[in-house]
Formats: sequence, structure tokens, C-alpha cells
Amino acid sequence: MSTPAVPSPVRPAFLGGSKQLFIGGRWVAAAAGEEFDTVDPASGQVIARLARGAAADVDRAVVAARAAFEGPWSRWTPLERQRLLLRIDELMLKHAEELASIETTDMGAPITRTRNTVKWISQAIRFFASCTGAATTTTASNSLPGNVMTLNHKAPLGVVGGIIPWNGPMGGQWWTIGPALATGCTCVIKPAEDASLSILRFADILAEAGVPDGVVNIVTGYGSEAGAALAAHPGVDKISFTGSTETGRRIVQASAGNLKRLQLELGGKSPDIVFADADLDAAVPGAAMGVFANSGQICYSGTRLFVQRSVQEEFVERLQRFSAGLKVGKGLDPGVDLGPLISSRQLDRVMHYVKLGGEQGARLAAGGRRLGGELAGGYFVEPTVFAGVDQGMTIAREEIFGPVISVIPFDTVDEVLKMANDTEYGLGGGVWTRNLATAHQVSQGIRAGVVWVNCYGAVDPAVGFGGCKMSGYGWKGGLEHVESFLYRKAVYMNIAG
Ligand code: NAD
Repeated sequence: MSTPAVPSPVRPAFLGGSKQLFIGGRWVAAAAGEEFDTVDPASGQVIARLARGAAADVDRAVVAARAAFEGPWSRWTPLERQRLLLRIDELMLKHAEELASIETTDMGAPITRTRNTVKWISQAIRFFASCTGAATTTTASNSLPGNVMTLNHKAPLGVVGGIIPWNGPMGGQWWTIGPALATGCTCVIKPAEDASLSILRFADILAEAGVPDGVVNIVTGYGSEAGAALAAHPGVDKISFTGSTETGRRIVQASAGNLKRLQLELGGKSPDIVFADADLDAAVPGAAMGVFANSGQICYSGTRLFVQRSVQEEFVERLQRFSAGLKVGKGLDPGVDLGPLISSRQLDRVMHYVKLGGEQGARLAAGGRRLGGELAGGYFVEPTVFAGVDQGMTIAREEIFGPVISVIPFDTVDEVLKMANDTEYGLGGGVWTRNLATAHQVSQGIRAGVVWVNCYGAVDPAVGFGGCKMSGYGWKGGLEHVESFLYRKAVYMNIAG
């Protein structure tokens, strides 16, 4: 039996020209009429111009979102919202290849990855469609005297701002749009300035599926302008933010004016721990791709790779061989494992850390160079492994957000847990072992929102993930996430006489 042919990706027609803001169901220019370039990170070439939204545009979008929230959308039933989500899913799947190509061209990830993103979004949308009953009213028993009936309402919060990073914008927007549509909220999305195109293309799909005008609005622009205005806007009830810890702190401050609810998913420096008894055939590629996936631009990448000393040498050798076999290239080209970094700024940042690793005494075991030749125009870095890293080195402490692994040796469970938790972050972690007791002890001992055992990085939208410490707060995924878009109201009704 022959397997169905995978289509060759094509450069999407959507690219090029100027893109506008999506407010109240219409495409509009920024109030100031300004634009900025967005580039393909694989070539450094400009692929479109984006509207430079600012405070006045955010205000227009929030007004549109509020009007939609108070309009007919507020009377949609859970079943109607569920049907809408399922229609979006159906329509999105018809445009799957186009959406994956746009995302790849805009932010660099290999097309195999962005095709999987579309499948993941489909799963997420169907999960959110299953939660539309979360906004509900139930009766409760009470202990009040007299004949009092108690109603428990869970009602939609209102207007939610979604501030999205560049490392996976098409999927990332669903952490805001999904629960908003499930609960009857409305939203204003502020995509990252480096990667906005898949979100803009998605707006037409939402409209075609029947999302009412003003329910989802999109304001592109810079973080310090459009992002800051959204975080501070008094008409926004909640902000859902993913990005750096530093920006997260600014958002906390900006949101204080009207005490917005916040969901913050910030940086990480996650430990991935390999014990000598692990199946190294699985642990080497698993732990490596736990960092190299998306060229290391994932918040919960397991960048501190602790390897038990007795297998350290063998592990590093295997890691070298595995890294050397990975194909780095343009995301639309076939067989590519790692695409470029998002921007020249991110490239400089990663190369700065690579230099620092060498200077501070880590041994460069693989990679470490920017790629030239036909990739010279883009922001490509080899998958990089540092061995013999000390927990005190900068590369083991700060988030690099690039394809850089720090291998740190350890001897005992207690020692490795101490080192694993010696970080300001608490997002992810991993453990590779055949021993169930070790798996249990270590997964319990790592102080982080999510721990993977004998695997790394998969997230089920129905279960979700979150962080602690400086990695932020507010769970993403699962019913708890949907319910964070609701507020609670009790009605005590005297029904005597
Ligand atoms: P960032 O935090 O600056 O940007 C994320 C989003 O926030 C973007 O949409 C941006 O426009 C917006 N933003 C920026 N400043 C803002 C402000 N003052 N108010 C409101 N919104 C604002 O992240 P970055 O500059 O793109 O990347 C810097 C570092 O952040 C990366 O190197 C990485 O360490 C980390 N990062 C983490 C994630 C993650 O998923 N946790 C994602 C992207 C970046």
C-alpha cells in the first residue's frame, strides 16, 4: 500500500503588501497611518508590512470588543458557541496547508512542525468546544433561615486581552481565543511584532466561520505601544500573556489601574534529568529535541540537561552524533529539522550566550556557529551542546531561547533535585529512568508546573500546563483555564410568599 504523498509547501499568496488591523469585523488602517516591515527569518527579506497599532487603535478595539460582549453574542447559548467552534475547526482544516506555510515563512519553524501545529489547534478547538457549558447557572443548597433559593452563576468576564509571543503565534492565540469563544467573552489580540501573519490570516477564517463582528479583534504593533496600551486599558478585564519575565512584570504594573485578572506564562530554564538506567536510545533524541525543537524557542525547553556521571561521556558522544545528523535549513525545504531563529536580535542574543559559555569554561561539544552559505541571509544557528557545564555558569542560569543545551553532570537524586530547583524559574522539567520509584521521586521533587517522564514537551490542551516562581501563574488548558474566563456570582433569592 502506498502512503499518501505529502504536498510540497508553496509560498502563500497571503504574503506581501500591507496588512491592516482587524477591529469590529473590519480591516482598518492604524489611526496614525503608520506601518512597519516584517521579515522572513530564513532570508531576512521583507515579506509584508504591518499596521503599527498604538493606544488609539487599542481603544477602538476594546470599544468594539465591549460592544460585541454586550450585544447579541451575550445571548448565544452554549450549544451555539460549541457549533461555532466546531465550524472554525472544520474551516481551519480546509486551510491547513496555507496556514502552516504562512506560519513557517513568518516565524521560521519547519513545515512539518507547523503542520503539526494545525493538528494541535484542531485538538484545542475541539477541547474548548467541549467546555461551552462551563458558563452556567446551578442551584445550591444553603443554610439561610427562611425560604431562600441560591443560584450559583459562572458568567463571562468580559473583554480579554491576549498578548502573544513570536515563537508559535498561530497556536498561542488559541489560549485566549479558545476560552473566550467557549465562555462568551470577547478579545483583543496583540500579536508579536516579529510574527503576526498567521494570526491575521486566521481572522478571515474566524469571520467566515461566523464569529460575530467585534468578538475577536487584532491589533498588530510594538509591545511598548500597542501591548502596553492593552495591558493598561481600563476596559480590559483580563490579560493573558506569554513572553519574557521582564515584560510580564511590566504587565503586572500596567494592569494595576483596574486590577485586571492576569494569566502570565513567562520564561524558563527547565531541568531535564537523565539517570544511568534510562533507555539512552530514547533519552538522547528525546532530551535533544526537548531543546532543539523550534530551534530552542520554547518556554519549557529542557535546556539544563543533567546527566548521571557514569553515563555522561557516552551520553555526550551520542548527543554529538544526534546533533550532527540534524538538518538545519529553510522551513519550507523538505527534511528540515531546525529552522532559523526569529530575528537578528535573537541571533545576536544566542551567539552572545554561546561565546559566554566558552569563556566561562564549558566545553563546546557540538555546533556553536552561525550558518553561512546559502543560509547566510537568515538567522540560522547550529544545534549546540555544551558539556561539563557548572550550575553557576551564565548559560546554566539564564534563558537563552535558542538551540543550546548545557549538559551538567550529577551523582545522586538528592544532589540533582537541589540543582534542578536552584533556579528562579519553575515551568517545566523532565526525568529519564527505567526505575518507577526514581521517576516518582524526581517528578514530585522538581518544582515546576509540568514534568515529563521518559518523554518531553507534549502538551494536551485538555490537561494543559502552567508555571510557578518567576515562570508566572495561571493554568493554560483544561477546564480550570476555561473557568478563569468566568467570574462567580451567587444570587440569594427570597422566595417566601
Ligand atoms: P517579549 O516578552 O518582549 O514579547 C512578548 C509579547 O509581549 C509580544 O507581543 C510583545 O510585543 C509584547 N510586549 C513587549 N513589551 C510589552 C509591554 N511593555 N507591554 C505589553 N506587551 C508587551 O518577548 P521578546 O522580546 O519577543 O523575547 C525576549 C525573550 O523573552 C526571549 O528571548 C525569551 O527569553 C522570552 N520569551 C519567552 C516566551 C515564552 O513562550 N515564554 C516567548 C517569547 C519570548
